[in-house]
Amino acid sequence: MAFEGLGEKLQGVFKKLKGKGKISETDLKAALREVRVALLEADVNYKVVKNFINNINDRAVGQEVLESLTPGQQVVKIVNDELTSLMGGETSKLNMSSKPPTVIMMVGLQGSGKTTSTGKLSNYLKKQGRRPLLVACDIYRPAAIKQLQVLGEQLEMPVFSMGDKTNPVEIAKSALDHAMHYGNDVVLIDTAGRLHIDEELMEELVKVKKIVNPTEILLVVDAMTGQDAVNVAERFNELLDITGVVLTKLDGDTRGGAALSVKAVTGKPIKFVGMGEKLDALEPFHPDRMSSRILGMGDVLTLIEKAQEGFDEQKAKEMELKLKKAEFTLEDFLDQMQEMKKMGPLDQVMEMLPGMNKGKLKGLQLDEKEFDRARAIIQSMTLEERRKPSLINGSRRKRIAAGSGSKVQEVNRILKQFDQTQKLMKQFSGMSKSKKAKFKLP
Ligand code: GDP
Repeated sequence: MAFEGLGEKLQGVFKKLKGKGKISETDLKAALREVRVALLEADVNYKVVKNFINNINDRAVGQEVLESLTPGQQVVKIVNDELTSLMGGETSKLNMSSKPPTVIMMVGLQGSGKTTSTGKLSNYLKKQGRRPLLVACDIYRPAAIKQLQVLGEQLEMPVFSMGDKTNPVEIAKSALDHAMHYGNDVVLIDTAGRLHIDEELMEELVKVKKIVNPTEILLVVDAMTGQDAVNVAERFNELLDITGVVLTKLDGDTRGGAALSVKAVTGKPIKFVGMGEKLDALEPFHPDRMSSRILGMGDVLTLIEKAQEGFDEQKAKEMELKLKKAEFTLEDFLDQMQEMKKMGPLDQVMEMLPGMNKGKLKGLQLDEKEFDRARAIIQSMTLEERRKPSLINGSRRKRIAAGSGSKVQEVNRILKQFDQTQKLMKQFSGMSKSKKAKFKLP
């Protein structure tokens, strides 16, 4: 999970401050020292850390924090603001050309996730009503063209390729003609990757850039490589003047150093983040929401967006109604599990809820097998039990376990999950009424 360590440490620092009625300058210094160490441990560039701490110190000391009624919360607010601005401040949207097609050049080193991200991005754009064309310009990596074609098939997206014998500049040029002819309003060019930055590669990319005059040059970097990713970004930016970054594999990056340093070091914003291998695991990057997630304040807006994308609206309405009438039953729970699964891995979803920490996430994971078991258990209950789980006492639990071929502990677990989901659903239905639900700082 992204930013695991950093989030935990920062939240720990704030907890200490929150307990104090007053914060002395010594307290603040000590807290900032801990923040500094936490950032360095998260592999954030040391110059970036130095600036960051100075900014917070200036604001905290200069402001009324020390005399404020809730100094702890003031500090959290300042850190939240500064983290947001460190990651770019405003959300950086994809630029679209007023004269179609919009050309997006995807660049990056081999293995960074460039081809996958190209597919994911085309999928994202298609959902917004665009008609993307994928272009296979990586003629060097064996199987790169095939990989893009397979992605194209999965996504039902057209792929333009001219094999591996034509040079990429020619391919890119022909692809633009093709797009004009077939009415594709976005052209995504999957350029060649290399294991390392070399002159030949850069020359080729510069040539392609010249010929296609891209609206966006998105550099794909792997978050898990930390400061290496930042160095790669710096180098690509010098040579190509990129317009933004796609940070992949954030789902596997527990430290978060690249996410926190890229903008400050290169001046170029992160536009998207990859959150998994699946083709819908790409999210627009919102610095304010990410900061909020790191500080344990949740990311309710993304959660709502995901819910809107994944949920069957009619079903969601029915569920909300049921909840209001307190009719949410175990059968609905089964349905709900299936709907939740569409939003992505449950731990990622839960991480976006305010105040959720890892402890609370334990025991909420459900894989395919467990899902089948849950179904068997629920089906072994009587109708009455499903509608009124409070009836299920010890002897009924034993009967249900025997009937579904499971253990009593498993029945208990399902009932507990039901209970937690019910609570979660209540939060959901409250939120969807006012999109900007307000949450207290931790
Ligand atoms: P390329 O050589 O840069 O084109 O890299 P690929 O697109 O082939 O991706 C390399 C590997 O990274 C593949 O196994 C992808 O499934 C995986 N990958 C790409 N993006 C993500 C991501 O956001 N999260 C995770 N977990 N894996 C990813």
